[in-house]
Amino acid sequence: MAQDNANRKRSWAEPYKIKMVEQVRMTTVEEREKLIRDTGFNTFLLRSRDVYIDLLTDSGTSAMSDRQWAGMMLGDEAYAGSENFYNLEEAVQNYYGYKYLVPTHQGRAAEHIISQLMIKEGDIIPGNMYFTTTKLHQELAGGTFVDVIIDEAHDSDNEHPFKGNIDLDKLKQVIDQYGRDRIPYISIATTVNMAGGQPISLDNLKQVRELTRKHDIPIIHDMTRVAENAYMIKKHEPGQEKRDVRDIVKEICNLTDGATMSAKKDALVNIGGFLAVNDQELFDKARNMVVIYEGLHTYGGMAGRDMEALAIGIRESVDEDHIRARVGQVEYLGKKILGAGIPIVKPVGTHGVFLNARRILPHLSQDELPAQALAAAIYVDSGVRAMERGIVSAGRDPQTGDQIYPKLELVRLTIPRRVYTQAHMDVVAESIEEVWLNRENIRGLKFVYEPEYLRFFQSRFDLI
Ligand SMILES: *Cc1c(COP(=O)(O)O)cnc(C)c1O
Repeated sequence: MAQDNANRKRSWAEPYKIKMVEQVRMTTVEEREKLIRDTGFNTFLLRSRDVYIDLLTDSGTSAMSDRQWAGMMLGDEAYAGSENFYNLEEAVQNYYGYKYLVPTHQGRAAEHIISQLMIKEGDIIPGNMYFTTTKLHQELAGGTFVDVIIDEAHDSDNEHPFKGNIDLDKLKQVIDQYGRDRIPYISIATTVNMAGGQPISLDNLKQVRELTRKHDIPIIHDMTRVAENAYMIKKHEPGQEKRDVRDIVKEICNLTDGATMSAKKDALVNIGGFLAVNDQELFDKARNMVVIYEGLHTYGGMAGRDMEALAIGIRESVDEDHIRARVGQVEYLGKKILGAGIPIVKPVGTHGVFLNARRILPHLSQDELPAQALAAAIYVDSGVRAMERGIVSAGRDPQTGDQIYPKLELVRLTIPRRVYTQAHMDVVAESIEEVWLNRENIRGLKFVYEPEYLRFFQSRFDLI
């Protein structure tokens, strides 16, 4: 791709051709106005058949390759000791370097197990910005998440190339304040979803490793988008540009003690996940616990065929052409939207473009749920489905029940891997521009139903 054409003018194209197609359906504005009202202005409650271009999430929405589909036919559906488990174990050891694998049905199941095993009542878990399910499982285990990400991450205009970095002074202060005994581990995500898909640098991770080694505190790695993070290191970190993404991925993993994985993102499968650790005692406990909640330790909630597709997906996720095109497509959309003068989180992250709803809708206060309202307006305009990442996602303080007011009030346009073409991205950009031009007409929303946990999934709203 890029290297071959260094001296020639040649357009970019997806590094694959399409073998099977899935029809999408266009609806009318009138139909969509009714549909969004009927679903309480929550894009999570829309039916997929009513969506034209689905940018709700990159989770489980990737297109599998012909090789992965071929792998599905090799499913060994034995209850115990499936061959596909051993293939998956080998892939995890080869590509990530973790010693022990506990498969789970998806990422949050791994978070549940590690949180229950490592966290006790009153513990503190510092990390590079919260993720919804990660934080909730830490809280359900009796812990409290403390954000120690650099301040730049909370400023959507700051163009720091590694907004996923840990602020070492903040981390030191948390360690000094609470002491090693109340900190079961540091939670490091590659990349940071809630900051807009922002990477952590290798240099920063090394410094965190050094500090935690001194205090004997483990690092648990949320490796959901580790290949995308590694690609950003290759692209933007001095001295890393000549390395293979595959090497960088392995080095990141080697700097940590264990990981939770939602394989539905980087690893190119529709369902799956795992917990991986290096400590044998912890592994024994996790392997025992997985049988309570997920299934036997050689399938953990996944079918044999899914484990095979995942083993192949791990390999494909670090392919240079794949990862360059994947992140390149997100960047393409981001540049188009930026070019229209629309405020988004900068720099463009790896898995989606995050619109700055607060700046787009300055006439709405945060209590009027600007990001929720903007996502609904985009759907009505074009049938493009996005999601809220702002006050609704932030939820309430578990102790006081008070509303949390996050600095970032965003709408996420998340790009599934290998699913849409550049032409789809053009349509999305056109729709966002249309909504931007008519932004003054967008009205705020209020809650009419609010569930207790992870409320953004199921809440319902009405116009104020
Ligand atoms: C999706 C996600 C999870 C949770 O994984 P699921 O497979 O959805 O349960 C955890 N961390 C991050 C950063 C994620 O994006």
